[in-house]
Amino acid sequence: MADRLAGVPLAPYTTLRTGGPARAFTQAETQDELVATMAEADRAGEPVLVLGGGSNLVVSDDGFDGLVVRVATRGVEVTSDDGRVRVTVQAGEDWDALVARCVAEGWSGVECLSGVPGLVGSTPIQNVGAYGQDVSQTVTGVRVYDRIAGEVRDLTAAECGFAYRHSAFKHDPGRHVVLAVTYALERSPLSGPVAYRELAVRLGVELGERVPLSDAREGVLGLRRGKGMVLDPGDPDTRSAGSFFTNPVLGPDEAAALALRAPGHPRWDMPDGTVKVPAAWLIENAGFPKGYEKGRARISTKHTLALTNPTGEAGADELLALAREVRDGVHEKFGVWLVNEPVLVGVSF
Ligand SMILES: Cc1cc2nc3c(=O)[nH]c(=O)nc-3n(C[C@H](O)[C@H](O)[C@H](O)COP(=O)(O)OP(=O)(O)OC[C@H]3O[C@@H](n4cnc5c(N)ncnc54)[C@H](O)[C@@H]3O)c2cc1C
Repeated sequence: MADRLAGVPLAPYTTLRTGGPARAFTQAETQDELVATMAEADRAGEPVLVLGGGSNLVVSDDGFDGLVVRVATRGVEVTSDDGRVRVTVQAGEDWDALVARCVAEGWSGVECLSGVPGLVGSTPIQNVGAYGQDVSQTVTGVRVYDRIAGEVRDLTAAECGFAYRHSAFKHDPGRHVVLAVTYALERSPLSGPVAYRELAVRLGVELGERVPLSDAREGVLGLRRGKGMVLDPGDPDTRSAGSFFTNPVLGPDEAAALALRAPGHPRWDMPDGTVKVPAAWLIENAGFPKGYEKGRARISTKHTLALTNPTGEAGADELLALAREVRDGVHEKFGVWLVNEPVLVGVSF
């Protein structure tokens, strides 16, 4: 088993560049090592933080008083049946490298998720999604270590309880360690039907049309770069945890109340009767433009939903002070509470 190191600063392991030291830090390079490390820590009653690419984390400036286990397992296994390709990927594989491979091989279904940072094992946790695709459309199974049962289990997609940026894993945080994920992809040189208007416009097609996989990938990467949503050491707007706020989903009464306060506001009417509202519109119209600063924390100059640490010197406390100001401002103006998307470790919002 890998060594345990003491006092490793966590900021360099997160894309937001916040986080004090971990009491102990280790890395798991095989599934067995990952399971054994978790089981041992659980037996000892030691708090554990499972760390992927650190792209969806806000870690306290005080660090983590327990064991941080960095997932570094590798391996991609490809099988094929009924015309579909099944790709089973170890949790520690880089997500975008996997997407690039799928595009190159002619495996369709994840191309619009190009450029999302982080590791494969994290994708089912919040049902990673972008530009009209999310992983619930392709995940067929997730192998987990269930820390309560103390056993490895294979969950079906239905058992994962996927919803918008949500899953059963989020209901029960920390219980399951994702070991591997299986995606079923179509063997096709073409993307799935383009389901996101901005992408369709960029590609010069109608919604529902299909385009060559590499065009979809390049189109998405271009749009994402324009918003500072592809990690780039040269672009301070990418020192973020991605979108800090999810788009609020309102029930009929809340939607009616918002319509009174903000007649004609943009909205997506969902099939289940709920109304999804763009958080970016609420934030901008509550008086927080792109580039809005508080201390050393800043709303991205390219994307209203991303809170950034442009110099890398802001602490989690400063980022969260900005997040609270935005949340409270939106609530005061529109009566809607924004909810954070990243996982908060040792801090609250
Ligand atoms: C610039 C930028 C753009 C982004 N764009 C998008 C986007 O378009 N769509 C989107 O959905 N997200 C986006 N994100 C958020 C983020 O990339 C995703 O949530 C990603 O899946 C997180 O992966 P990670 O490996 O970095 O997870 P981490 O940040 O390391 O961890 C996130 C959570 O998952 C847990 N976790 C990690 N690995 C495992 C595992 N193997 N088993 C169990 N739990 C685990 C962690 O404990 C933590 O609670 C963006 C982030 C950034 C910085």
